[in-house]
Amino acid sequence: MGLMTGKRGIIVGLANNKSIAWGIAQQLHEAGAEIAYTYLNEALEKRVRPLATSLGAKIILPCDVQDEAQQTAVFAELEKQWGKIDFVVHAVAFANREDLKNPFSQTSREGFQLALDVSAYSLVSMTRAALPIMNEGGSIVTMSYLGAMRAIPGYNIMGVAKAALEASVRYLAAELGPQKIRVNAISAGPIKTLAASGVGNFNEKLRVMEARSPLKRTITQEEVGKASVYLLSDLASGVTGEIHYVDGGFSIAEG
Ligand code: NAD
Repeated sequence: MGLMTGKRGIIVGLANNKSIAWGIAQQLHEAGAEIAYTYLNEALEKRVRPLATSLGAKIILPCDVQDEAQQTAVFAELEKQWGKIDFVVHAVAFANREDLKNPFSQTSREGFQLALDVSAYSLVSMTRAALPIMNEGGSIVTMSYLGAMRAIPGYNIMGVAKAALEASVRYLAAELGPQKIRVNAISAGPIKTLAASGVGNFNEKLRVMEARSPLKRTITQEEVGKASVYLLSDLASGVTGEIHYVDGGFSIAEG
């Protein structure tokens, strides 16, 4: 019996085998969860489908979080196949490259709205779509970064989006607590992924973390996966509205 045996849920945000979502998928699978997956577009479907299938997935669906109808269709399909679900993993973010490169004051209105829509509002819309089929005791986890709290060079509009995401976690947690549904974020240290390649000075972030974090190293997808299992399982039954740092202690050591 694993910690997630008997639990079913969905991971949104798998792109390839470097994705944080892949680390989460592997750990949840090992803990006994049954998992459905989504992919953003046909190009990514080619990468996502084999990965998901290798972990025994039977439900693999398209989902662009900017498309409300597609999101609704995903949860309608889960209801049809499973009835209820126990967890949602939201590991999605996007910003225009130029908005991560240019000075923050140059962020365009469209770029600001796009980053906030994909990276923060999607947690709200996804939660709304999932709610009717969430079991009591259900758990939702999203991915954040220290740039929500501090002005980190090169993170720019994503920092603003993550601040909105973290505030959304608290408001959703406050609203859904009485329904016994928990909502938390993991604030992960820097990890080399597709999304990270768009962030300015990314290698410098890895180097600084190795040099200055208490653990003196960067963290892995697997470690974010293990923290996700904790937050999605009954081990964390008393935990909601929390921003859970998986960053080798960097956030507390850096003044
Ligand atoms: P990734 O590129 O593997 O994952 C990002 C995912 O977002 C991809 O699967 C992509 O398809 C998806 N996505 C983008 N736009 C979308 C849309 N409109 N609809 C649906 N999906 C969309 O990179 P990752 O680093 O694993 O990112 C996962 C999450 O972790 C993100 O929220 C990211 O901000 C967060 N995070 C990453 C790091 C890091 O250093 N890599 C650190 C902290 C937090």
